[in-house]
Amino acid sequence: MRHIAIIGSGPAGYYTAEAAQKALGGTAKVDVFDSLPVPYGLIRTGVAPDHQSIKGVSRRYEKVALSENVRFVGNVKVGRDVTVAELQELYDAVVFATGAPRDRPLDIPGAELGNVFGSAAFVGWYNGHPEFAALNPDLSGKTAVIIGMGNVALDCARILAKSREEFAGSDIVGHALETLAGAQIERIILLGRRGPHQIMMTPKELSELGHLARAAPHVAPGDLPGEAEDALLEPGLRKAVTALRQFAATPEHIRAEKPLAIEFAFFSQPHSLEGDGQVQEIIIERTRLEEGRAHGTGEIEHLPADLVISCIGYRTVPISGVPFDEREGRFTNSEGRISPGLYCVGWARRGPSGTIGTNRPDGYGVVELIEADANAGVLGSEAKQGRVGFDALAKARGLDVVTFRDWKKIEEAEERAARDGSPREKFVDIEAMVRAGR
Ligand code: NAP
Repeated sequence: MRHIAIIGSGPAGYYTAEAAQKALGGTAKVDVFDSLPVPYGLIRTGVAPDHQSIKGVSRRYEKVALSENVRFVGNVKVGRDVTVAELQELYDAVVFATGAPRDRPLDIPGAELGNVFGSAAFVGWYNGHPEFAALNPDLSGKTAVIIGMGNVALDCARILAKSREEFAGSDIVGHALETLAGAQIERIILLGRRGPHQIMMTPKELSELGHLARAAPHVAPGDLPGEAEDALLEPGLRKAVTALRQFAATPEHIRAEKPLAIEFAFFSQPHSLEGDGQVQEIIIERTRLEEGRAHGTGEIEHLPADLVISCIGYRTVPISGVPFDEREGRFTNSEGRISPGLYCVGWARRGPSGTIGTNRPDGYGVVELIEADANAGVLGSEAKQGRVGFDALAKARGLDVVTFRDWKKIEEAEERAARDGSPREKFVDIEAMVRAGR
C-alpha cells in the first residue's frame, strides 16, 4: 500500500489525488489536507464569483474526493497542527499543493498606506476567504488604481465596475456586495509598466470589459503599435490585442454613455504612493520598452488614487525545513521533486502562472515521479502507517478534523443561506464553518 499526503485541496491537490487514484487504484491511500474546513482552494476563494462556470470543475474534484481511497482532511494546518517531518514519518510521499496565497510585495514608498491592498487580500475579501473577510476596503473615493495587466487585475476591475444587478447568479459574499453597491468609483485605472503587446490578459476575460452595464474601457489609440506588428504575436495574445483595438476604436460619445471609465495606462510604472494615513495619490514614472523590458524615462506623473490594488503576482508560503527559492517565491524543486518523498505541484512548484487545467499534468507527473522513486527504493523500505497513524496523532492532539461528509453539511448550509438566484452564501468564519459541519 502506498500512503500519500497531499497538502492543499485546490486544483493542483485534487488533480494529484485523481492521478494517484487512476494510476494506483486500490493500492494507494490518499489524504488531502487543507488548513480551511472547506475544500477546493482557489476554486472557492480565487476564481471570480461571477465566473461560476469555471467553478463547475469542483464537481470533478468531488468525484475524486468521494472515491474509496481518497479522503479530505480539513481544518488541519501543516506547520501548526502537524509538522512536515511527522507527515513524512507517516506517509510514503508528501506533496505540497499549497498554491501561492501571498502577494508579491509592492516594493515602493507608501505601499503601507491605508486602502492599499494586494490582490490576494482584495480577491479574498470579495470571495469570503476567512483571512480577508474583515478587510473593509473604503470604496467611497472616485478613483481606483489597479497595478498590473494580468487576469487578476481584470477580475478586480470588473468586480469594482459591476452594478448590483450584474452580480445576479454569482456567489459574491454579502458583505462585499453591499460595500460594492455603495461604491462611488467613477474611474478605474489599470496600470501597466509595459505596452499593449505585453499584457498578460486572455481575450475572453478582456472582452468582458466591453459588455459591462455602467462601465466602458478606454484605450488611447496612440498607445497601440502599428497593426501589422500584431501578426508576430501568438494567437491568444493577438486576440487580446484585437480587443484592445476595438476598445480604442469606440467613439467617445458611445463610451461617454457609461458613467464609469476603465482606463488602460500603458508604459507607466508605479514610483510611490502618497496620502495622509490613507492613500490619495499614485506617482508613476513613464517607461519605454527596450528589448521587451520596461525602463523608466524619468518622466513623472501624479494620478489620483483613493484605492490601490496591486495585482502583480503571488508567492508560495515557505514551510520550515522545506527548501525555498526566495527569488521565484516557490519551493526549490526539480520537475516537482523537492527530495525523495517530498514533492510539489501547481503554483507551489511552478509559480503563479497558467490556467486551472495547467495543474492537471503536474498532478499526473508527480504521481509518476513518486512511483519511480518508490520503485528505485529511495522512499525507504519500512511500511508506513498512513492515515491510521495520522488519526491517532490527531486524536492525541485534539485536532478538530473536518471530513468530506462534514463539508457536505457546510455546503448544504451555504446553499440554504443563498440569496435569490445565487448558488450559495459562503461562511466567512472558520468557527461558523466547523459548527455547520457538525
Ligand atoms: P500575471 O498574469 O503574471 O500578471 C501580473 C502583472 O503584474 C503583469 O502585467 C506584470 O507586468 C505586472 N507586474 C509584476 N510586477 C510588477 C511591478 N513590480 N510593477 C508593476 N507591474 C508589475 O499574474 P496574475 O494576474 O496574478 O495571474 C496569475 C495567474 O492566474 C495567471 O496565469 C492568470 O492567467 C491566472 N488567472 C486566470 C484567470 C482566468 O482565466 N479567468 C483569472 C485570474 C487569474 P510585466 O509583464 O511587465 O511583468
